[in-house]
Amino acid sequence: MAEIPVQDYAKQQEIEKDEARKRYEFKKSLERLEEKQGSGTELISLYIPPDKQIYDVTAQLRDEYGQCSNIKSKQTRTNVQSAISSILARLKYYKAPPENGMAVFCGAINIGGDKTDLESIIVEPPEPIKTYSYRCSSSFELETLKDMLDDRVVHGLLVLDLQEAYWGILTGTRIEPIGGTQSMVPNKQRKGGQSSIRFARNREIAINAFFSKVGEQSSEAFLSDPKFFDRFKGLIVGGPMPTREDFVKGNYLHHEVQKRLLGSIDASYTNECGLRELVFNAQELLRGEEISDEKREMSRFFAELRKENPAAAYGEASVRANLEAGAVDTLLLSEKLREARLTISCGNCDYQEIKTMQIEPGKRFRDLPFGRCPKCQSPLVLEKEEDIIDELTALADTSNTRVEIISDSSEEGGTLLSAFGGIAAVLRYPTGM
Ligand code: ZN
Repeated sequence: MAEIPVQDYAKQQEIEKDEARKRYEFKKSLERLEEKQGSGTELISLYIPPDKQIYDVTAQLRDEYGQCSNIKSKQTRTNVQSAISSILARLKYYKAPPENGMAVFCGAINIGGDKTDLESIIVEPPEPIKTYSYRCSSSFELETLKDMLDDRVVHGLLVLDLQEAYWGILTGTRIEPIGGTQSMVPNKQRKGGQSSIRFARNREIAINAFFSKVGEQSSEAFLSDPKFFDRFKGLIVGGPMPTREDFVKGNYLHHEVQKRLLGSIDASYTNECGLRELVFNAQELLRGEEISDEKREMSRFFAELRKENPAAAYGEASVRANLEAGAVDTLLLSEKLREARLTISCGNCDYQEIKTMQIEPGKRFRDLPFGRCPKCQSPLVLEKEEDIIDELTALADTSNTRVEIISDSSEEGGTLLSAFGGIAAVLRYPTGM
């Protein structure tokens, strides 16, 4: 096997990490959009494909603006019109849509106490937007974007025993049954009159024929649709032993299917119900490389913690001190971390404080009372707010520290969040901080 030059490998890892970070950012923006609610049907979701002309979009928006006169509620009408104006203003900065197009979300968001606030958010999706759409609703239309998140990887599912086989597709956590087939394999019980050798031979032939048919139908299920094939990353086969192993080792699958085989595992049902059982039993297999990376990083951290003088730190204050000292080798951040770093300043003198606060749905930091300046008694105002993952990542970048965003789908990831506040670090050397 040809060796990959070290540089290329490092570069490839960088690209993959960038991808992971971008995906995380995208996921986070979807979560935030999902929380936002309008009071009437006045939140606009606008999807612009990459090949759409901006002047076409603005013309359509002006048309929508005109049609607003049909809206009965004066408040809704005003809100929709201001949202459209706001989108038009933002579109002025675009000569053409970005590479994958753009999704624009705009409207008067409920912020509690009968108050609303006009917000407009532009999302550049990881995959191209296919169709132009303009919708007005009480919440943002996010399905198109969510599908992109889900559909990144699909897995083929196959369950079989000697009587039947069933196929399905796994997208994210969604199982889509394809269909099944029955075998002609006679039961193990031999009927009277037939020689046992002959019976065994006939049974062997019938099994071989059934396996061949399952192999062919697997190609049809997983290889015939090019759109599926692009995202087809793995196959999981389930059923009782030794049938499932005989099948996967018997060269019945097309090589394009065979090479995607992640493994064969137990499933007692071999019909549609078997698909769900298979996915349940295959959790470990499915998490794949990404999870094992995470597990490896987390076990390094746990191994350090067990030492007398650990090169490890956890909790925001300790990790931050180590980051500032340039002592962190790998920064471990839970994907579920929802905190912001706030910079609060005096409007009059140079007094400033920086603190971390929990992000909660519907809560806006700039509405909080921050009290008065201890130096000059002027009111304190929020100068800057930053997501803590972004802030710590930027801090880590200044000292060449690796950053791992850990999902909570593994036990280790769950522990990071519940026992260590979602922030931990493997250090370059023990610091005692
Ligand atoms: Zn002051």
